[in-house]
Amino acid sequence: MALVREKDGKRLHVKSTLMGESLVSKEFIEKLDVAPQERLYPDVKVMKIGGQSICDRGVKALPEILKEIVSNRAEHKMLLTTGGGTRSRHIYTIGLEMGMPTGVIAKFGSMVSEQNALMIATLLSPWGGVKISHADIVKLPTYFAEKIIPVMHGMPPYDYFAIKPKVGRIPIHRTDVGLVILADLIGSRDVLFIKDENGLYSDDPKKDPDATFIPEIGAKDLLESGQDDLVIERPCLEILQNSEVLEKVQIVNGMVPGNITRALKGERVGSYIYRQ
Ligand code: ADP
Ligand code: MG
Repeated sequence: MALVREKDGKRLHVKSTLMGESLVSKEFIEKLDVAPQERLYPDVKVMKIGGQSICDRGVKALPEILKEIVSNRAEHKMLLTTGGGTRSRHIYTIGLEMGMPTGVIAKFGSMVSEQNALMIATLLSPWGGVKISHADIVKLPTYFAEKIIPVMHGMPPYDYFAIKPKVGRIPIHRTDVGLVILADLIGSRDVLFIKDENGLYSDDPKKDPDATFIPEIGAKDLLESGQDDLVIERPCLEILQNSEVLEKVQIVNGMVPGNITRALKGERVGSYIYRQ
């Protein structure tokens, strides 16, 4: 990058590719040559512990799941995130009823997800569980060197700046999206959603007994299928599809003992949604 002096000799500029551009032009962005994205921590397995699907089951689910996670501690670097679950839905309902804007609803979601992160980190603390904040992501190598299991809340920190969706005021970027954005940021090869169903179905298996299991599908095909309900938040699919580093996300049933371990080993378990 060269320094250029204005003709009158009074000022210096740094000449760069983006100089003088609005950064809005589609044509310019398409032509812009950028280096391939670095994978910051590709061997870190990012895992979301479901809010409604897992955390809310409390003692009926968490001890077993956390035990399984701890048993994988020596072999894998695991970064845990948490969903909000039923308490989020409760405060969303009241907030919407009271006319709260999307940004306030999103902030509620972060606060509830943080409660679950505090609980999981506390439960894991004898085995290296440490609650971290989003700003601590850059410290991951140090945590793993100390055999720590970092736990952070899963809402992407748009909070008050969450954008109102086309319809309604429930923020569309919630804790599933948080995991996929995090995975894209650090370039994880393994992105695991721990939920209470065997993976993706053609419809919510809790409501539709005829829903069929989908062991694997491309994000683009799934988006284009127009399927009404999904096991992960819809914007995850677009983020995955646009990613330069993510290859797939995996949804596993954490209620089945051994599933998390198998998924961590790279075994075929649950559903894969891959980038097409
Ligand atoms: P979490 O608490 O992990 O965010 P959610 O309850 O929000 O979990 O989402 C997972 C749930 O989504 C599943 O337990 C299932 O009942 C429901 N679901 C809706 N559509 C689907 C689908 N197409 N395939 C599988 N599960 C689905
Ligand atoms: Mg959810």
